[in-house]
Amino acid sequence: MSPDPGPDRPLLLLGGSFDPIHHGHLRAALDAAAALGADSTTLLPAATPALRDPLAASAEQRLAMLKLAIGDDPALRIDDCELSRGGQTYTVDTLRSLRTKWPERSIIFLLGADAFSRLQRWQQWQSLLELAHLGVLTRPGQALQPPPLASFLAARSDTPRQLRQSSNGHWLPIEVTPLAISATQIRRLLARGLSPRFLLPDVVLDYIARAGLYGAAGTP
Ligand code: ATP
Repeated sequence: MSPDPGPDRPLLLLGGSFDPIHHGHLRAALDAAAALGADSTTLLPAATPALRDPLAASAEQRLAMLKLAIGDDPALRIDDCELSRGGQTYTVDTLRSLRTKWPERSIIFLLGADAFSRLQRWQQWQSLLELAHLGVLTRPGQALQPPPLASFLAARSDTPRQLRQSSNGHWLPIEVTPLAISATQIRRLLARGLSPRFLLPDVVLDYIARAGLYGAAGTP
């Protein structure tokens, strides 16, 4: 959706349901771009993510909240290709389509350490490193459990430069600011009539209140 910095720059992607987007996502996106020497991180909202309960907000509402959250910050972008495609969202399909568009470009897909340790549950997970690099968002000192596949064990990199200068095939732990915020926590607070203020941008909270999302009717 936003203008792309160009094929000579790494394409950094943060997939998620963003139901709703919060400061944990936003700070991790900025930290990862800085750590990897990328201009920006592109937020990639999923249509219907596999492996989780149905989402509370619609695709349009989640996209509207993303747009409000990033404002005009040039370090954050949005790609709504998964929402346009609709149906069940599989990261491997998105990466295949991006790889067709950018055959040589460094593509780095960011995911949390928890998701990484359960990567075997993802559709065609063995193919992910053939299509992109993986950037694993970690807390300082956190031990990582790579998937039990020899090629994954061998694919660990310790240099952001290696990920920038090749198109795919490596994973790298990326330390991000520890912010123990989750969308689940925000939805639960709202459902109990409590305020999640300061866990997410005020503009997003205003949108939630106006739309009456997550049981938020009447919250400030
Ligand atoms: P939910 O609570 O609904 O499961 P969530 O807050 O974990 O949602 P997602 O949209 O599932 O948000 O997350 C998208 C991506 O952002 C995932 O890779 C996830 O690991 C990462 N992420 C989520 N919250 C944080 C956080 N507080 N700090 C760093 N990364 C995060």
